[in-house]
Amino acid sequence: MQLNLSSKFNLLMATVFLAVTAAAWLFSAKIISVVNEQWATQFSQRQVQFDKHRTLLPLTREIALARQLAVEPALLEIAKNEDDAEIHQQAIEVLERYRTNFRDQSYFFALAGSGNYYYNNAENAFAGHQKRYQLSPSNPNDQWFYATIKNGKSYQVNLDPDVNLGVTKVWINVLVEDGGKVVGMVGTGIDITAFLRETVDVGQAGVYNIFVDKDMAIQLYRDVSLIDYASVTKEVKARSRVDSLLTDPRDIALLKQVMQRVEKSHYGVETIPVTFKGHQHLLGVAYLPEIGWFDLTLMDTKGLFLVEDFFMIPFAVSVMFLLAILAFGYLLNRCVIKPLAALNLATLKIEQGDFELPEHIECDGKDEIGEVTRAFRKMASSLKQYTSNLEAMVMNRTTELEAVTSQLKKSNEELDHLSRTDRLTQTRNRYDLLECLQIEASRSIRTGLPCGVVMVDIDHFKVVNDRYGHAVGDEALRAVTSTISDKLRSEDILGRWGGEEFLILLPGSNLHEAEMAAEKIRRAIETMSVQLEEESISLTISQGVAVYLPSQFSEIESCVKKADQAMYRAKESGRNKVVVSE
Ligand code: GH3
Ligand code: MG
Ligand code: MG
Repeated sequence: MQLNLSSKFNLLMATVFLAVTAAAWLFSAKIISVVNEQWATQFSQRQVQFDKHRTLLPLTREIALARQLAVEPALLEIAKNEDDAEIHQQAIEVLERYRTNFRDQSYFFALAGSGNYYYNNAENAFAGHQKRYQLSPSNPNDQWFYATIKNGKSYQVNLDPDVNLGVTKVWINVLVEDGGKVVGMVGTGIDITAFLRETVDVGQAGVYNIFVDKDMAIQLYRDVSLIDYASVTKEVKARSRVDSLLTDPRDIALLKQVMQRVEKSHYGVETIPVTFKGHQHLLGVAYLPEIGWFDLTLMDTKGLFLVEDFFMIPFAVSVMFLLAILAFGYLLNRCVIKPLAALNLATLKIEQGDFELPEHIECDGKDEIGEVTRAFRKMASSLKQYTSNLEAMVMNRTTELEAVTSQLKKSNEELDHLSRTDRLTQTRNRYDLLECLQIEASRSIRTGLPCGVVMVDIDHFKVVNDRYGHAVGDEALRAVTSTISDKLRSEDILGRWGGEEFLILLPGSNLHEAEMAAEKIRRAIETMSVQLEEESISLTISQGVAVYLPSQFSEIESCVKKADQAMYRAKESGRNKVVVSE
């Protein structure tokens, strides 16, 4: 397939455009996915760190305060002697002082020995009768107390509904120990509603905070129904675990590994991809050593992507490249293809002999095309000059040649005329007459018409020569020729057969007509005279007449012979006669 320059460039540009666009798409896809992943991971790790500290801050403050309260001497004293009114009074005063410092402005204090449970709240509703009720190991609602003591940890954070008080709180339980022996438990609670609002139920779209313990039991979550209340008193199997949120067992297995790693590293944060509510999320995992929980932050990856509109970048690259290609194509067309096409057209015109270059071949460009165009113009102009010179030269030569040819033709014609003409009488000579005989014979054969043949001989011509001289004889010959000629039709042929003999051909004339014509000639000669200075000469002629008919003669020469013989008979019978051949 033959492609012109423009098509070739267009094809090349299209190929390059497709290649660049494809590369831009692949490259952008890769870059964007890497950027998004890194961004999402970093973002989620920051988020987890932030959540962790936001959650821990109020808790650690409350824990610190509760632990400080647990070592107050008044509490140790009351554990030893609860019935002493003064000791009792001092312990209540200390508790009440701490109450105003606690976030929730509430406290509880339970004694291991008596099982007495002291409590007061923000409204100071139990002033004067802070001792609320007595805990019992046989009461299932009081199991938290005995389980926590059995657990042996100096403090625990636990979520529990207090059925007796009708409240659900995040409880901070701190053991009161005297010489290594647990004598009671003191602590405070934080209203779960407020707590959730501040830490877990953050109004960030696509971000979910879940706090789980080591067994993955949910401790805090915005959906309160999934919280595993009173974790401490239950068997692991019966707990509301994070499995209810993350349905893919592979995610759970991975989370387990990550939780172990994060716990060991103590303050580290890790991020893993998981499926939540049917689509991809990032799960940030952090360990909260102060309370032994893990902060799981679920983030919808879609919301985290730095570059959301993936198509924008390659599209922009494609559009810009397309514009660049179009601009390049325009310039190429204007500066190269168009001038080349114009040059090509001009070449074709020059080939056809038209040297006038079209106006649109611009040659003011300073580039290579401009150079070529200028050189082309120069060449065309030289070629034009050269051609016109050549044409002029040819014209001259042609004129000269034509003159020479015409001269030659003229000479030829003259030569031919001369060769056929008798110099003296200026009529046809014998050579020409022989040709005429053949022509007339052919005509007769063709038309079937006869041709009269008359042989003429001047009588006693020798005498004229002898008496007046040769020059007068010549003059007499010319006079006879002229007189005969006057009596002939235009189609008749007269020629000098030799000496003082003439031959006349009368095309179309039969014997009788030929005889009439000869007779007319005889009379004309008889009456004619050749004028000399002192006298005039009269002449006569003898004529033999025959007629050529193709049916009678095989050749016209024999007819001429017949006429000649008749002419001799005219001589013999007295001259100045016309004798017709038999
Ligand atoms: P006849 O009647 O029998 O024909 O007699 P004649 O004298 O005409 O015949 P002959 O044949 O004896 O003589 C012909 C003469 O014609 C002889 C010659 O000198 C003359 N003659 C032939 N050609 C020329 C010519 O060109 N010029 C001149 N002046 N005379 C010529
Ligand atoms: Mg003769
Ligand atoms: Mg004669």
